[in-house]
Amino acid sequence: MSPERQRLVRLLFDEYIEMYAARDARLVTRFSDDFSGFAGSSDQLIKSRSDWVDVTLQDFAQVPGRIGIDVVDIFPQELSDDVVAVTAFFHIHLPMPDVVFARETVRLVLLFRHEGDDWKIAHSSFSIPYGLACEGEVFPVGRLQQRNLELEALVEERTQALAEANQRLQLISNTDGLTGIANRRHFDQTLAHEWARAQRARTPLSLIMLDVDVFKHFNDHYGHLAGDKCLQTLALTLAQTGGRRDGDLVARFGGEEFVALLPASDAPAALEVARQIQHAVQSLALPHEGAPFGIVTVSFGVATVVPERDQAPEELVRRADRAMYQAKQSGRNCIVVAPD
Ligand code: GH3
Ligand code: MG
Ligand code: MG
Repeated sequence: MSPERQRLVRLLFDEYIEMYAARDARLVTRFSDDFSGFAGSSDQLIKSRSDWVDVTLQDFAQVPGRIGIDVVDIFPQELSDDVVAVTAFFHIHLPMPDVVFARETVRLVLLFRHEGDDWKIAHSSFSIPYGLACEGEVFPVGRLQQRNLELEALVEERTQALAEANQRLQLISNTDGLTGIANRRHFDQTLAHEWARAQRARTPLSLIMLDVDVFKHFNDHYGHLAGDKCLQTLALTLAQTGGRRDGDLVARFGGEEFVALLPASDAPAALEVARQIQHAVQSLALPHEGAPFGIVTVSFGVATVVPERDQAPEELVRRADRAMYQAKQSGRNCIVVAPD
């Protein structure tokens, strides 16, 4: 084909595509009186110009807004002196939410015939591989909208399921497997959070550290499973007595050591909570042969800090731990409050 002919065919195609995309009704004046064609979403062969004008106007009425056309490939052919063809592949972007159609490739063959002193469209065959048009439609928009609604509902459903799964996961990752109370990870996070808050508000933050007395001996004597059971009972008691205010957190610090974090509690208030826990543990009166008191007891270290700007949360843990060590030194089953 001569370059001049190629340019002509490209011009005819571009003119057609622009009018079609712009939903420009003048497009119908380009149709030949001797016309054939079919719409991709229909199984009807159109054999007259007037029927094709109807289909085109119906198409424009159904989707009145400008559509986007991404041409992927075109191939011009010269069939004779007065007949040229264009085969084109493209994507159509409808002016509405559409997750299906835009991904499909539309195939179009156009024949232009030279009639009088003009080129007319003698044949148009659209192939939209989505033959789902309903009655009265050219584009399968009804099905697309239905499909969009179904997809939206599905996304909503999956999003909710994911949120629930994440919530369960969060709970599991923050929970100690043996005792069911908060684990060390959760404690560390909460401590950092409460420390920063206390720093800003200049309020006290208290920590009680508890360590079961001569627990190794308990395991040796009663066995590890009984030891586990004992830790579960102690954790439950701690949860019931040690974290009763909003924002309080009781957690397993590790092994047979537990903590109670008490935001906005000063030293006397924290000491009072420690006493309540001690009383509750003693009331359990869990037998512990060979322990100094014959029952399971706990040693307590209590520390309170109004965090300074340059202090780190580990400071609170260090002080409570040191006080707890002193409680052990002082004969166990007692509470030591860390000095300021
Ligand atoms: P102290 O009064 O000085 O704290 O003596 P202790 O025997 O309690 O301290 P030690 O650190 O010597 O021993 C702690 C024991 O706690 C040893 C360990 O087997 C036991 N323990 C830690 N975690 C668990 C657990 O999950 N289950 C059981 N059954 N025992 C545990
Ligand atoms: Mg210990
Ligand atoms: Mg111990």
